Amino acid sequence: MRILIIGGGIAGTAAALALDKAGLEATVHEAHPETGEDTGAFLTLASNGMRALAQFGAAEAVAAAGFELTAMRITTDTGAVVSTVPLGETEHPLRRFRCLRRAELGAALRAEAVRRGIAVQHGKRLVTAAEDEDGVTASFADGTTARGDLLLGADGIHSVVRSLTDPDATPPRYAGQRVFYGYTSKATPPHEVGRIDMLRGSGSAMGYAVSPMGETFWFARISEGELTDTEIAETTPAQWRDQLLPLLRPDATAAADIVAATGDRLMVTNARDLSTVTRWRTPRMLLVGDAAHAASPATGQGASMALEDAVVLAKSLRDAPTTQVAMETYEQLRRPRVERNIVNSARLTPRRAPNRLQRTLRSYRARFRPAGASTSQADEELQRQLDWDTPVEVNAPSGQGG
Ligand SMILES: Cc1cc2nc3c(=O)[nH]c(=O)nc-3n(C[C@H](O)[C@H](O)[C@H](O)COP(=O)(O)OP(=O)(O)OC[C@H]3O[C@@H](n4cnc5c(N)ncnc54)[C@H](O)[C@@H]3O)c2cc1C
Repeated sequence: MRILIIGGGIAGTAAALALDKAGLEATVHEAHPETGEDTGAFLTLASNGMRALAQFGAAEAVAAAGFELTAMRITTDTGAVVSTVPLGETEHPLRRFRCLRRAELGAALRAEAVRRGIAVQHGKRLVTAAEDEDGVTASFADGTTARGDLLLGADGIHSVVRSLTDPDATPPRYAGQRVFYGYTSKATPPHEVGRIDMLRGSGSAMGYAVSPMGETFWFARISEGELTDTEIAETTPAQWRDQLLPLLRPDATAAADIVAATGDRLMVTNARDLSTVTRWRTPRMLLVGDAAHAASPATGQGASMALEDAVVLAKSLRDAPTTQVAMETYEQLRRPRVERNIVNSARLTPRRAPNRLQRTLRSYRARFRPAGASTSQADEELQRQLDWDTPVEVNAPSGQGG
């Protein structure tokens, strides 16, 4: 079977690696001429994401980038420390949370793909695709085409492939928050190596971690109106800093000092998510990653979910009797989990700044489960789904496409 993967970001490259391990041939077609598209932001990869990477032998490659996080501390706007908890599966070095730039994660995955001889073609922007009884043809903006048996839409939240599998799908929606990101080596906030600090501010939700090299990675989520593309393109880092600081100054935390110490490496994006995408597939096309199920950033699970998708899809194609049954099995297994993440993340993304009581009550438990927490039935089921050597359970699907 020849598989065309559209999008060489996290979902697409991970899928290529997992399919390769399952003995299936895939080619990655990435729109960007050199690397994957990236906004310069960083992300946290959770233990479930690291576990997924290990299934197709890429955990070590990713662990070489960024730095690990093993604890989280929560501080309120008054400066009071509410709690410090261990993060994820701290006892296993390759399953610890990692903090890394999105570009670093993409680059590590692509380098691993190239090392294994997987074809990754750049400058291939899909414009449309057409399927027939014998296969599917992808057409690219450079005038070329590619032919395969199955096409994976791993082309992110603004997916072109989704417009083909589900032309009526609601476009991505503004989730109600602006997300600021920055990096600075000039701040000296309270910190410990391996700890991420969450600051429940009066006008923001902020997080920061200091890398072993002394660089502070920070984000701040602000509940305000959607920014236009022009505002994002034309506003300078200094102007964003001036807008952000008055919201942070009233708090007795390190937030304002970190932002004030940040130079030009400061950026902003609108938080967006997708409402339910009814059709993830046609007989020869299938969505993975953000193309199928983008959540707002609050739970910090988007990349980890994309990595899980890759494992479950490769196992389904490996174990199911036909491609149709494999696609249906993949959707059955993945849809409940990823849709729950979208809902949970939306709940943690208030459209208005919450009052103090709400802030105090709000828990980050949905995002970070302390190490040693009892493993629920759902967790055990997930681990079975991800474990490479455990066959996928095919629940007598109908085998119907779409
Ligand atoms: C502000 C922000 C913060 C986030 N923080 C976190 C976090 O802390 N933890 C976490 O796990 N996740 C986080 N996420 C989510 C995470 O980045 C995404 O879930 C993840 O990148 C999804 O991977 P993907 O491969 O599906 O999509 P993308 O990473 O968007 O990759 C899509 C790829 O497809 C390519 N492409 C697009 N269109 C075409 C086309 N027509 N033809 C060919 N190629 C195309 C793009 O160039 C890109 O390389 C965050 C997201 C945002 C926006």
